[in-house]
Amino acid sequence: MPESPKKPPMPATPRLPGPALAVIYVAFCALPLVLALMPRVAPLAGWERAGAALGLLGLAAIAVQFVTSGRFEAASGRLGIDKIMAFHKIAAWWVLLALILHPLLYVLPTWLDDPARGQARLTAYLTLPHYRSGVVALAALALLVLTSALRERLPVRYEVWRASHIVFGVTAAAAGLHHALTTGRFSALGPVPALWWAVGAALLAVVGTLYGWRWWRLHARPWRLKSVEKLADRMWELDIQPQAKTPQLPYHAGQFVWMTEGERRFPLFDHPFSIADSPRRPGLSLIIKEAGDFTDRIGALPPGTPIGIDGPYGEFALEDHPCDAVLLIAGGVGIAPIIGLVRDMVARGERRPVRLAYAAGQPENFACLPEIAAAEAQLDLKVMLLSEEDGADWTGEVGRLDHDRLRRLLEGLDPARTVALMCGPGGMVTAVSDALLDVGLPMSNVIYERFDYAGGAASRQDRRRSLAFAGIGAGLALVAGLFALT
Ligand SMILES: Cc1cc2nc3c(=O)[nH]c(=O)nc-3n(C[C@H](O)[C@H](O)[C@H](O)COP(=O)(O)OP(=O)(O)OC[C@H]3O[C@@H](n4cnc5c(N)ncnc54)[C@H](O)[C@@H]3O)c2cc1C
Repeated sequence: MPESPKKPPMPATPRLPGPALAVIYVAFCALPLVLALMPRVAPLAGWERAGAALGLLGLAAIAVQFVTSGRFEAASGRLGIDKIMAFHKIAAWWVLLALILHPLLYVLPTWLDDPARGQARLTAYLTLPHYRSGVVALAALALLVLTSALRERLPVRYEVWRASHIVFGVTAAAAGLHHALTTGRFSALGPVPALWWAVGAALLAVVGTLYGWRWWRLHARPWRLKSVEKLADRMWELDIQPQAKTPQLPYHAGQFVWMTEGERRFPLFDHPFSIADSPRRPGLSLIIKEAGDFTDRIGALPPGTPIGIDGPYGEFALEDHPCDAVLLIAGGVGIAPIIGLVRDMVARGERRPVRLAYAAGQPENFACLPEIAAAEAQLDLKVMLLSEEDGADWTGEVGRLDHDRLRRLLEGLDPARTVALMCGPGGMVTAVSDALLDVGLPMSNVIYERFDYAGGAASRQDRRRSLAFAGIGAGLALVAGLFALT
């Protein structure tokens, strides 16, 4: 591919750091409670106020779930897709818990007094037409959370699950807003109803942006497949070029795009793929491994196929991480963003020392080896190739990337001033990110991306992050508790 010396300018999307996003999140969820303090509502028992608080908080938090889906760069901040999706998943559980407790706390004082009357009140809440939209909201939310938690085990295609996720989400939010506006005592007075109308309008705008505006862009700014090349076993490289009126994509090496092809260029059908390229080169390269019904067809796409590109997304990039040396770690198809970073380093003449560890299951699964060898001649680059299985002509290492191998890679470098960017299977990312901390890299210098939202074993960094998320949940519980006591 020809190189262009000029880098397309990056769009100026504001990207807030994690702590600032956490404060905004808690403040937004607490806003209906603060507004609810303004009008004089008939006195309620403490438990009832707690129930109301959870309803108000939960509804605001449902609205936030729409923008923590990874599609809004400003909302994702500098967290990266891994962290924002982890937050989205954890927050869904506490929203569900809050909204299950919401009717239960209302009936608790009655139930403590007289269990039969408490039971009758709860049955009334669940069956009377007046409360029906609340029950619909709760049912939709429960289905949404459960089908997401069990997604890997459900016998449905990913796209079907995704469509159901949108339907359940929109139903939960719309029915929840209706319930608040028609039955909520605090939502009937003062500025709270205006807030819910504003939230409803904002959610319409979010859904319109995600599925209307993005759909229009996928059609109005098409790209075209120039060529497909087989790189390794079931792994393909796509060269995608913009059509006449489509501008080049401004991005940082290592980021990813959502891609659709052919006539199905609708956001529901798009898939995330890392850009295996440098922004200094025209067009985009994607390296794709066959993993299911969409990717299995990739190698057979004819040149000329229209391609929809939405992006760039993600924080898997060097730009925000000042350092003296760079350690790149790729496992399997995780080579895609890593080769993008290498290509960019070559294109811009990187001078810092770069170390690359590239691991695969078998020798025939490695991609881009000639290009990596050529980069060794152009950069201060040392490469370690690791295959789990040995092969007749294999000259690289056999086994996994362990502490000793990491120490060898880091020889001559200051770990405290080295940034590691790693992309690979979940198990490898977890084990190696912990090992990188053991060999002296600060946690803030260990950046990784998994290609799977499903989760799995947690690294030390994941656990620290979960603790921070638990802190946010505890902050919300505290806000609800204070409201109940006022
Ligand atoms: C940030 C990111 C970057 C990625 N970069 C690459 C890359 O450069 N090269 C590459 O080969 N793979 C990459 N992937 C993985 C790739 O997106 C999936 O392998 C692909 O979407 C599978 O689709 P399928 O229909 O072929 O398989 P399916 O059988 O439908 O799905 C297999 C698994 O892939 C995941 N998946 C499927 N569809 C989607 C979707 N629309 N959105 C999110 N996850 C989905 C699900 O976990 C699913 O269980 C990346 C994933 C993420 C999250």
